[in-house]
Parts: sequence; structure tokens; C-alpha cells
Amino acid sequence: MKPVSFEYFAPTSVADAVSLLQEHGPEAKLLAGGQSLVPLLNMRLARPTAVIDVNRVEGLDYVREDGDALAIGAMTHQRTVERSELVQRVNPLLHAATRLIGHPQIRNRGTVGGSIAHADPAAEYPAVALALDAEMRIVGPNAERLVPAADFFVTYLTTALEPTEMLTEVRVPALPQGTGWSIQEMTRRHGDFALAGAAVTLTMDGGACSDARIVLFGVGATPLRVQQAEERLVGERVDATLMSEVGREIKTSIDEPLADIHATSEYRRNLAGVLTERALVEALERAA
Ligand SMILES: Cc1cc2nc3c(=O)[nH]c(=O)nc-3n(C[C@H](O)[C@H](O)[C@H](O)COP(=O)(O)OP(=O)(O)OC[C@H]3O[C@@H](n4cnc5c(N)ncnc54)[C@H](O)[C@@H]3O)c2cc1C
Repeated sequence: MKPVSFEYFAPTSVADAVSLLQEHGPEAKLLAGGQSLVPLLNMRLARPTAVIDVNRVEGLDYVREDGDALAIGAMTHQRTVERSELVQRVNPLLHAATRLIGHPQIRNRGTVGGSIAHADPAAEYPAVALALDAEMRIVGPNAERLVPAADFFVTYLTTALEPTEMLTEVRVPALPQGTGWSIQEMTRRHGDFALAGAAVTLTMDGGACSDARIVLFGVGATPLRVQQAEERLVGERVDATLMSEVGREIKTSIDEPLADIHATSEYRRNLAGVLTERALVEALERAA
């Protein structure tokens, strides 16, 4: 199929991109790597009147260490993150998550900012952003703001971005000392979106867990942080029995996930528990 006709713009600065968003209103769409937007255009599920291609905007393609965090420009290709030794060293969870996104061809074109702004609930980056307390730098017509991941993902494919705003940077804190991590997912075929997944970090201090993060993806309208399960772990000497109990509790405590042609809601719920337990086991090994 072919997209509906639209006006095409290719600004070279963030200021110009934002002013085009302002001029064309909510019917305008930014185009980054096109790996989600172009299929939507071709299927006419998105019908923008203006497409603002931000691939020529300068200065948004970088990965650098900034204090205790990684600063990643929104237009950085996922492949750059995958190949970055800095990311692998400072945040191996983010690195591992990147390798689960689609196929190399998708990661060559897909951007970090595009994945976060698109906010697919089964995508790896939004889940990892939530688990790691990432912050999104957003530029609008009059101001710039930093939005924590906990406030950024609003509902299915919907974020805190206003129609006149552009995501310019994602700031991901380094994993603290003594932190183990894991990301586990189940896909029907290699490279597919996950049917369900779990991203976990466990920080161990003197044999006890001092911090735990459990974020599920593919089971709700946004990535889902399971604080109740995290609280079961904090302060405890985590062992196989506790991890298995947490996995079992997740199966019964989360709201009914969406059913579709790929999986029933019961299957997704069960998967969430199994994958959480697997992720906890791996994260504990890494913390040690
Ligand atoms: C076959 C296939 C398999 C895939 N598998 C996976 C997978 O397993 N996991 C996964 O996470 N993803 C997967 N993807 C999606 C891929 O990760 C996309 O790259 C990503 O969802 C969107 O990034 P993009 O740069 O291509 O953005 P685009 O497609 O260009 O844009 C996506 C949306 O974000 C908006 N947007 C883009 N950049 C910005 C910005 N800087 N500020 C504000 N809004 C912006 C656009 O307006 C659009 O609405 C897959 C895609 C394909 C085609």
C-alpha cells in the first residue's frame, strides 16, 4: 500500500524541527529511523499531513559518559549502541536489550529516540528506561524539560511528549556497584517483538538485596514496574525459593494482559512470572 500524500520537510536543527511541529499542529509527524512510522504510513494507520524528517538535524547522534550517566542523542542508531564499548561497560543491561531489538537491518536504521518516543509496550528500550530510571530530554517551542521514565510512558503508544515537542536525548544512569541485571523475553521467531519480557536489576550489599527493579513488557499498555514484587526482595538474602515465590506471585498479581493472535492473556501472564524468575536468577549470579 502507499501512504496518503503529505508535505515533506527536512530541517537541519532542533529549533527548525520544533517550529515545523508548531506550524503544522498535531497532524505532523517526526520521521527518525522510519522502522515504526513507515509501516504505519504504508498501511495508512498513520495519516499525517506533514512528515518532518529529522535525519539531517545535527548534533543528536552521540553516546557519551556524563557524570554517573550515559547521555545518548535521540538520533543515535540502535546499532551504534550495540557496538558501543562504553555502553557495554557502563550499562550492560542497555547493551543486552539493544541486541534483542528486531534484526541488524532494523537496528541500523532504528534510533534510540524513535523507539522511546514510539513507546510500544512490547519494546525493550522503554522497559529498560523504566528499570534504570532514565530521563528524557524534551525540547518544545519555549522550553526544555527532563522527564523521568516513570512519568514518560502514559499508555499504549502514548508518551508525555506534546505534539509540539521533540525528544532530543535519553539519559541513562550507570548501573550501581554490586548490581546484577538480566533481560529475558519470549518471541515466536527470532527478531519479533516479545510476547512478554522482564528486565531486572538486583543490587546486593553484604549478602542482602538493597535495591530491586522488576519491569515487565508486552503485558500491559506501557512497560510495567512491579513494585510489590520488588519489595519482597529488598532487605532479604535472595535465594531460589524467594525468586520462585516472586515469579509465582507475578503470575497472579498483574492485571490481565492483552490477548491477541499471538498469545492468550493467560499465556502472557504465565510467561511474565517464568521470565521474571529466570531474570532474577541471572541477575543474582551477575551481582555475585
Ligand atoms: C520487522 C521489525 C521488527 C522490529 N522488532 C522490534 C523489537 O523486537 N523491539 C523493538 O523495540 N522494536 C522493534 N522494531 C521497531 C524498531 O525498534 C524501531 O526502530 C522503533 O520502534 C522506532 O524507531 P525509529 O527511529 O525507526 O522511529 P520512527 O519509525 O521514525 O518513528 C516512530 C515514532 O516516534 C516518533 N519519533 C521519532 N523520533 C522522535 C523524536 N526524536 N522525538 C519525538 N518523536 C519522535 C515518530 O514521529 C513516530 O511517531 C521492529 C521494527 C520492524 C520493522
